[in-house]
Amino acid sequence: MAASLSDLDYSILQQCMHCGMCLPTCPTYDATKRERNSPRGRIALMRAVADGDLQPSWEFADEMSYCLGCLACQTACPAGVQYGQLLETARAQVEHWGIDKSPMRTFWRTLTLRVLFTSPWLLRLAGRLLRLYQQTGAQSLVRRLGLTRLLPANLRRLEPQTPAIATSFSHEIIKENEQPSATDQPAKRVALLTGCVQDLVFSDINRDTVDVLLANGCSVHTPASQPCCGSLHAHNGEHELAASLARRMIDLLPPDDFDAIITNAGGCGSHLRQYTALLADDPAYADRARSWDRKIRDIHEWLLETGFRTPSAPPYEAPATVTYHDSCHLAHGQKVARQPRELLRGIPGVELVELAEASWCCGSAGVYNITQPEQSASLLARKVSNIQKAALKSGVTLLAQSNPGCHLQIQRGLREAGIPVMVTQPVSILAEAYRRESKDRAGSQHS
Ligand code: SF4
Ligand code: SF4
Repeated sequence: MAASLSDLDYSILQQCMHCGMCLPTCPTYDATKRERNSPRGRIALMRAVADGDLQPSWEFADEMSYCLGCLACQTACPAGVQYGQLLETARAQVEHWGIDKSPMRTFWRTLTLRVLFTSPWLLRLAGRLLRLYQQTGAQSLVRRLGLTRLLPANLRRLEPQTPAIATSFSHEIIKENEQPSATDQPAKRVALLTGCVQDLVFSDINRDTVDVLLANGCSVHTPASQPCCGSLHAHNGEHELAASLARRMIDLLPPDDFDAIITNAGGCGSHLRQYTALLADDPAYADRARSWDRKIRDIHEWLLETGFRTPSAPPYEAPATVTYHDSCHLAHGQKVARQPRELLRGIPGVELVELAEASWCCGSAGVYNITQPEQSASLLARKVSNIQKAALKSGVTLLAQSNPGCHLQIQRGLREAGIPVMVTQPVSILAEAYRRESKDRAGSQHS
């Protein structure tokens, strides 16, 4: 993959025919109505850089940072412009120029991208320390005493967004190899990717995913320690690091050993399908990267493709009205939008109500809520308002989605607005239905 716009295959930069069909789908253009904040405007800027007509500038860097990378424009584009690839290359170009550097920014980027998100054990250690801080009540005390005022302004703003760390991580609640109970079909062998944020904050969703796969006759391999998939690095202009993490991932899970490699996080999944492009120039990995991309499946996609078993029990005592938010990188990056909805419709006792602007970004977008807090907050308010309307009009009590970033962002927005809608994943609802089915079966055997 090209590390600068001038190295990029020029035909990719020429694909845009300036039709403007993408403009109404772009949240940043919608917010400002300025051409430079639109996909078309940004592509023109990128082409000017590639042609040497635009010199390194802070304005260009800022424009690439203001883009959410939501890829709604890619879905809308009739010319098949590969906007995601363009944006990643443009961000790598900005890093290469180094014009956006400050000691503080370099410190945080090094700590997160180069240290924590390249070392699974260090990331878990950081998670454990944070969990200790939260579970001992120290976090509440610090907040009550107003000590967060002592933090630098940026950290003070982010502090309320600190996620609650899970009581156990994935490897503590999932065995490396789990087998389905007796089945007359030969079991499919799949591997599960546990993710980074998903592992630290939503390991229960990883457990639910394993339970659903087992209930559908799959044997599941979940390595206890997994590297980051590199998505965060690729989206932030660190191609070399992203490529090295992709190699580690392929070494850990050789694709030919599995029928599918399953991901349940929309943002990771979108990047995990890009290993072919990322490692195209590496003769030792190019073939394996192609096999890898062929084996990657989002969990909903896999369940629909293999025909998931309808549970015989509903997930909850009372019927549930659920709405669904599309994670950008699941819907636009992976084109998986129909499958989660079909899955929800296939669960007894669940009614799916469409959410207005379901595929409009919630403002999480990787680290966008850190780099562009105002625009992120405005997108979150819009999403929360649509969910509130669905709750008032249709009695929605659950919002299903499939990305840890969206999960945290929307959960916080709903909590702060006092809206009693719980955020979950389709696969967790399905897992709950299978659990109730087993309980009912055990109950009827005893009676
Ligand atoms: S990725 Fe999203 S924010 Fe960026 S140009 Fe495309 S639609 Fe607009
Ligand atoms: S829809 Fe595609 S071709 Fe048309 S302006 Fe947008 S990016 Fe260019």
